[in-house]
Amino acid sequence: MPMTQVRVRYAPSPTGYPHIGNIRTALFNWLFARHSSESIMTKGSFILRIEDTDMTRKVEGAVDTILESLRWLGLDWDEGPEVGGDFGPYFQSQRLNLYQSAAKQMIEQGYAYPCYCSPERLDELRTRQMQRKQPTGYDRHCRDLTLSERSHFEEQGIIPVVRFKIPPGKTTFRDLIRGNVTFSNNTLDDFIILKSDGFPTYHLANVVDDHLMQISHVLRADEWLSSTPRHILMYQSLGYEPPLFAHLTMIMGPDHTKLSKRYGATSLIEYRQQGYLPEAIINFLALLGWSLDDKTTIISREDLIKHFSLERLSKTAAVFDIKKLNWMNGVYIRQLSSEEFTQRALPFLENGLPHEMEHPLYHNASTGMDYVSQIAPLIQERVRYLAEVPELSRFFFTEILEYDTTLLLQKGMDKERATSALQTAHERLSILSSFDASSLEELLRPLAVELNLKTGELFGLLRVATTGQTAAPPLFQTMAVLGKEQCLKRIALALEKLLTATS
Ligand code: GLU
Repeated sequence: MPMTQVRVRYAPSPTGYPHIGNIRTALFNWLFARHSSESIMTKGSFILRIEDTDMTRKVEGAVDTILESLRWLGLDWDEGPEVGGDFGPYFQSQRLNLYQSAAKQMIEQGYAYPCYCSPERLDELRTRQMQRKQPTGYDRHCRDLTLSERSHFEEQGIIPVVRFKIPPGKTTFRDLIRGNVTFSNNTLDDFIILKSDGFPTYHLANVVDDHLMQISHVLRADEWLSSTPRHILMYQSLGYEPPLFAHLTMIMGPDHTKLSKRYGATSLIEYRQQGYLPEAIINFLALLGWSLDDKTTIISREDLIKHFSLERLSKTAAVFDIKKLNWMNGVYIRQLSSEEFTQRALPFLENGLPHEMEHPLYHNASTGMDYVSQIAPLIQERVRYLAEVPELSRFFFTEILEYDTTLLLQKGMDKERATSALQTAHERLSILSSFDASSLEELLRPLAVELNLKTGELFGLLRVATTGQTAAPPLFQTMAVLGKEQCLKRIALALEKLLTATS
């Protein structure tokens, strides 16, 4: 095959907000274009085309959300809405005349025909076919109307739809992922290409635009595979050279069924709201159906561009695993500088802890931000997505900790030992002059020995007393950030709790 310029497109319909599956398609197209630009081939272009011809299914705000999702992930487009380009307009609703003249050409050359059947007739036909357990589809009633029969209908003011005339035989095309795919044409009915309101159906608009926009490769979801023989037949009838096709294998939920709202079918914007980082989403999506090798999991955007290839697209379905995404997002979170992390985490904190943020600890610190920036690195180590930040850091902001007293009596601890340990710790801590992590460690490690406790026992006890939780960031750093006054107050509260406990 001669080396052609790579021109790929992402062609969403604004009938909903883009989800993981849609955006993966966008990403693969984008990567392919950017890879082509970087490698020896000529410049690759990533085109965004809005397929908005189905007016009945249009969702308000969907176009904006599509653009916003792409922008959030840094998937910039070379041609399309807002940026323009030589092949525009990039909204199909602004290109109706192009589809209408293609339909006209197909009628004139005998590849398509006007159909005057009423919706009632089509309904009856369908019911009959279903009753007889026959495949449903148009019965070609208007396919061979004479010119005078056509004008008879026209005179009655009936505005026809235009149907494509499926020829006999078979249609074969090469899919870059699956190899040759053959459909028998008798499985395809004479589908509508132009509706009576002058709007094209997906098939016509898609073929005309991929041709006029000089698309070289169509990388799209698997669900469109069965439309491709129709498209191939239309390319042939219009005398166009078809692009190359690659149908991306399905993404399934962990239960190996189609992606559902529960697993990944949620809008991409919701991932942003949950505090997933765009870099992590890109990495995660890239591995849903593509791989560098059989071991690499963390791979940067630059490396993806460098190595992306159609040859390594997977032939088997990808599985969406939220645990993997959470893990990966955590990896990217830990790669942020602590300033960057603090900045990204702050809005989540302010939203998630509106009440606690009134707390004096936050306001009394020389500045609130100073306190937050001491907490942030401790949380950064543990968080998987930013919406978890408020929960993980709540104890830093609440004055009165609420927890079950039994937490103070972890393995091997009884009320007496816990009480005496906390009392001694309280005494020693109150005379500790510098309350930083290493001074705390120097004091508390030997104290465990002195109290005849395992370090884990003493530290576990202090952890619950100062944070109200059994799992929290490293103890000494946490205590240092909380400060002496708070720690002593909290230990005193724990002692009170133990005193009033029944056993
Ligand atoms: N508008 C179609 C969609 O929403 C485009 C399919 C294709 O890429 O051909 O997925």
